[in-house]
Amino acid sequence: MGEGIAVSADIRSKSRKGLLQYTRIVLDPPIMKITMASCDCEGYTFRGHCWYIETLKQLVVSDERVREEVMKAKEELMRTEEDIAS
Ligand SMILES: [Zn+2]
Repeated sequence: MGEGIAVSADIRSKSRKGLLQYTRIVLDPPIMKITMASCDCEGYTFRGHCWYIETLKQLVVSDERVREEVMKAKEELMRTEEDIAS
């Protein structure tokens, strides 16, 4: 299994003005399951769960531009795996 598809974004903080929270998730291509998530905000650090990661997950399913990029990365990844197999 490869690295998966990494999606990252700087998400505007809803509690602190002017703060951008760097958030990253890694998706496993066949089923697009999240295999890794990282965010250095307090919520994630203490609870292992936070609003930023939820927002990023939502972006992947609802934002056309983000989804397109994910799909492109997915195709490329599948192609690479085929090349290795043949
Ligand atoms: Zn967070």
